Amino acid sequence: MKFEDMNIEESVLGSLNDIGFEQPTRIQSETIPIIKQGYDVIGQSETGSGKTAAFGIPLVEKVVKDNKIQALVLAPTRELALQITVDLKKFSRFKGIYIQTVYGGVSMGPQINGLRRAEIIVGTPGRILDHMRRGNMDLTNLKIFVLDEADKMINMGFIEDIKKIERNMPKNRQTLLFSATMSDSLIKIRERFTRNAKKIKTKTKLEENVLKQYYCDIDYKRKFSLLVHLIGQEKPNLAIIFCNTRRDTDLVARNLQDNGINATALHGGLSQQQREKVMEKFHKGITRFLVATDVAARGLDITNVTHVFNYNIPRDAEDYTNRIGRTARAGESGNAISLLIRDEHDSFRRIIRDFSYDIKKMQVSDFRILPFNKYQFKRDRNFKTRKFFRRRFR
Ligand code: AMP
Repeated sequence: MKFEDMNIEESVLGSLNDIGFEQPTRIQSETIPIIKQGYDVIGQSETGSGKTAAFGIPLVEKVVKDNKIQALVLAPTRELALQITVDLKKFSRFKGIYIQTVYGGVSMGPQINGLRRAEIIVGTPGRILDHMRRGNMDLTNLKIFVLDEADKMINMGFIEDIKKIERNMPKNRQTLLFSATMSDSLIKIRERFTRNAKKIKTKTKLEENVLKQYYCDIDYKRKFSLLVHLIGQEKPNLAIIFCNTRRDTDLVARNLQDNGINATALHGGLSQQQREKVMEKFHKGITRFLVATDVAARGLDITNVTHVFNYNIPRDAEDYTNRIGRTARAGESGNAISLLIRDEHDSFRRIIRDFSYDIKKMQVSDFRILPFNKYQFKRDRNFKTRKFFRRRFR
């Protein structure tokens, strides 16, 4: 099926042509017709499958220019909210509708101005609720409500906020709920937001053999040296290295820099401005190695990421899927490499047991042992910029 055969509004089709989308992805061809017919949808698919356009195309079609909020998209993180906005702006280029992104950590003023004229709002639940409480947002004309990455929003503790937001919406709206996984807690509450929803589950790109998954056995002390060795061996174009804590992301990034590797840390402890700057440099390829926590990297859509390294193993299956989904995007191939110390084998096996992933053991030649400096990071008085203090060398 082609987009031309989906009865999509001319102006939106024109935008898709401009972006270079020729054929709908599987989730798009299954979901767009149903959303156009007005059904609620519960969609299970990951970022990387093209789900933003799956809801974004019909959403943009249904919205008209009249300075009233007609669509609200909730996302778990600022980064994802910004990314969705970028995509919706592309789809609606020829319609002239106004889209306002709403998230915390920045001042309210510009958002309030935008809310007065916006037809579409994309944002994180906390700040949206904040605006609603202050009377800055009128949802009485809302036609479409989208919950993106619902599983993550629940894990991040947003459920009560989402319920409060939902109470202020018309009941006869259309609801579209997307999630990479359907946990028991999500299954329990999803019916609360949707009515007679059509359930759609698509296999994703992860199973289409463009993503190669590997693991390496390593002892704790040599893990950093192995990472540096693998970077030399694999020669990634862009890579994301996942750690489980902010401190580890800072440490690994700093030690990579010490070894001449162009790495930067990305985590929730950075200010919004700092995060945006890091992302811009990574997008442009100025920084080629992003050392990130799960939350910070969730939903990032950067097409040329050739490698994902799990420096620490993820906490659960959902984080693993999301991590490896940062590579092999938009038809490109990618590699996900997990560095496992002995104690982690059992947890790793548990994490991947629900998937039929083919994770191969990576062959590693001898490598040089490098020092790993345990820097101390001290925040300045503004709690914004970080300074490095070298405690000791090893
Ligand atoms: P998403 O799952 O929405 O994060 O999309 C993943 C990537 O696929 C993004 O870079 C999209 O721009 C790209 N994409 C989505 N739909 C299509 C399509 N129909 N044709 C080509 N690329 C697409």
